[in-house]
Amino acid sequence: KLYNQLQDLKGNIRVYCRVRPFLTGQPLRFGAVDNIEEGKITVLTPSKYGKEGRKSFTFNKCFGPTASQAEVFSDTQPLIRSVLDGYNVCIFAYGQTGSGKTYTMSGPDNLTEESMGVNYRALSDLFDISDQRKEVVCYSISVQMLEIYNEQVRDLLASDSGSKRYPSYACLVPVSTTSDVINLMNIGQKNRAVGSTAMNDRSSRSHSCLTVHVQGKDLTSGSVLRGSMHLVDLAGSERADKTEATGDRLKEAQHINKSLSALGDVISSLAQKGAHVPYRNSKLTQLLQDSLGGQAKTLMFVHISPEPDAIGETLSTLKFAERVA
Ligand code: ADP
Ligand code: MG
Repeated sequence: KLYNQLQDLKGNIRVYCRVRPFLTGQPLRFGAVDNIEEGKITVLTPSKYGKEGRKSFTFNKCFGPTASQAEVFSDTQPLIRSVLDGYNVCIFAYGQTGSGKTYTMSGPDNLTEESMGVNYRALSDLFDISDQRKEVVCYSISVQMLEIYNEQVRDLLASDSGSKRYPSYACLVPVSTTSDVINLMNIGQKNRAVGSTAMNDRSSRSHSCLTVHVQGKDLTSGSVLRGSMHLVDLAGSERADKTEATGDRLKEAQHINKSLSALGDVISSLAQKGAHVPYRNSKLTQLLQDSLGGQAKTLMFVHISPEPDAIGETLSTLKFAERVA
């Protein structure tokens, strides 16, 4: 009974864990992940991080390295449907750099139909379902792409991206097919690369947010409903090496730490009824304020790298996730 009450309380927040495969193709048993079950992941902790042994964490769902993009998405689908019913949804990808956040949200660099990520699949579903309902509701769908870097919001779809800052220039682009979406994502990706060099991959130190706005007009009653979905590829969660990071790197790291912990604070206070929700502590939580809490639904994908030397970051990722789950 208590369990049910807890589920009710936290019914709008779900956390899924995804472990990516070794990039070298080694079997998972060579790594720091001991076991993955439906909703439980067990990792091996070396003595350096306290007592040597195994530590387990439970989530709504855990995906192992063989889980396909389609499998991961199928558990996300009910959320997508609810956007067309007028709900606000946020989907986050959290994890250290290289753990698979962009893979989950967008897909790999050499995209194929099968490897398409959540962003594409979500929009494709929105188009399909709105088409099925077209005799009853007339939907219009538009998208926006923003980047938050050093607590500054930048519009990735503005034509002169360098100078255009949210909110006065936020481009909202109507879309009606998946190829519209792919084109826009390519533009956004190119604009995101501005300001980064080979040595300085900015994408891992900024949050990128694809927002989808849905408006549906009921053809019988004339009433209008609005839903939205934020698909957020978060900045890498790794802790800056305090001895090495200086200047710009240190500043970036401080901004990232601040906004990720603000996000964690917001989500965990939402799970405690009546608690004050500290939205104002970062640009990210300010931007998403209307879509976090209330009737809104939140899904966080927590990404884990299997390599033994990633265990320090893996533990801090799992602890962050446990706090919001
Ligand atoms: P992040 O965005 O967290 O920095 P990426 O998504 O770029 O990480 O993933 C790092 C590398 O691992 C990329 O080459 C990506 O294609 C690969 N990768 C990530 N997740 C998976 C997966 N589930 N299956 C296969 N390859 C993956
Ligand atoms: Mg990435």
